[in-house]
Amino acid sequence: MTGHQIRILFSLAVISAMTLLSLQPVDAQVEKRPHVKIRGIYGGTPTQLLEQKKTLPELGVNTIFMGSGSLTQERVALLKKQGVKVFAEFNTMHVANYLKKHPDAAPVGVDGKICPAPHGWQGICPTHPGYRQYRMDDFRRVLKEFEIDGIWLDYHHSHASWERAEPDMPDTCFCDRCLKQFQRETKTKLPDVPTSELANLLRGKRKKMWVQWRCDVFTDWVREFRAIINATRPQALLGTFHCPWTDTDFNGALRNKLAIDLKAQAQYVDVFSIMPYHARFNHPKDPEWISRQTAWLGKHLGIQGQSGERLKIWPIVQLSDWGESVPVSQVEAVLDHGTRLPATGVMVFRWGSLHQQTDKVDAMIQFYRTIKP
Ligand SMILES: [Zn+2]
Repeated sequence: MTGHQIRILFSLAVISAMTLLSLQPVDAQVEKRPHVKIRGIYGGTPTQLLEQKKTLPELGVNTIFMGSGSLTQERVALLKKQGVKVFAEFNTMHVANYLKKHPDAAPVGVDGKICPAPHGWQGICPTHPGYRQYRMDDFRRVLKEFEIDGIWLDYHHSHASWERAEPDMPDTCFCDRCLKQFQRETKTKLPDVPTSELANLLRGKRKKMWVQWRCDVFTDWVREFRAIINATRPQALLGTFHCPWTDTDFNGALRNKLAIDLKAQAQYVDVFSIMPYHARFNHPKDPEWISRQTAWLGKHLGIQGQSGERLKIWPIVQLSDWGESVPVSQVEAVLDHGTRLPATGVMVFRWGSLHQQTDKVDAMIQFYRTIKP
């Protein structure tokens, strides 16, 4: 055998070994993951787990996320006694009830009329001063009243329906207030023409400036949320649940449509909880999509997942059935991809419907206990 043939045989052996490795079942790869600091559940107090006569940390769970409207002193005390962190979810731009008494806060569409809620997802005009005050006051109240470890913004984006395979994202808000504020803050003068013509101009020739201004409006809300945390409970973390798309998915809709400028928001946010609900978002057979989106986010924001980094990525991953079901056989792969660097924490969506599917809950607990350092 010549040296050349030996080298070829050796190469083939290496390739075969690599193929074998990649074909091993996922559970063979699950091991302690000390970089994962947060093993969480989203959706309220898991009373069904508390009945198991084990503490949540013994079950591998060290963090609970709950809606700020569900917080009570008793619930927070109960969870703290268990030794878990408690984070609140806070609805920013999606309190539809507000419109009953304040119809002038409804987003205006390209025709100059009130824009119907896409798939029922009602947003609010981001420059309505009364609505902003209302949300800021409530944010401050939650932080003052409850000993929470952090608070996560939710629905912090424009009037749109995107938590699905085919999003519906109408262009808004072209109300007089938004148009005036745009001109004032960008020092531009719009022509005296009907709103529908202005909307065409802002979606055409002036698009770049309009998109950036809208992003800046939403970022300025985040700046104020941060200031409130610093003044009321400075040790609390500020997180955000956000759309899992990259900057090029859906033609750049993250900025162009949803008005989410992740880099700008990173000045104020501590934790980015990207929402890669693989089944819901048209990737039911592809849990790897979770780690691909997380890897993109890390690259985009310069986050590696090393200890000491100010910014963190903790994805919220889908285990409950919503739109598409998630089979129990997929639980491990979903959590595996959700806990790969640059992610340093993970939480599962969502307890309210998941707790009935005890086989999936058991698989979650098994994974959490396995990766627990
Ligand atoms: Zn408006």
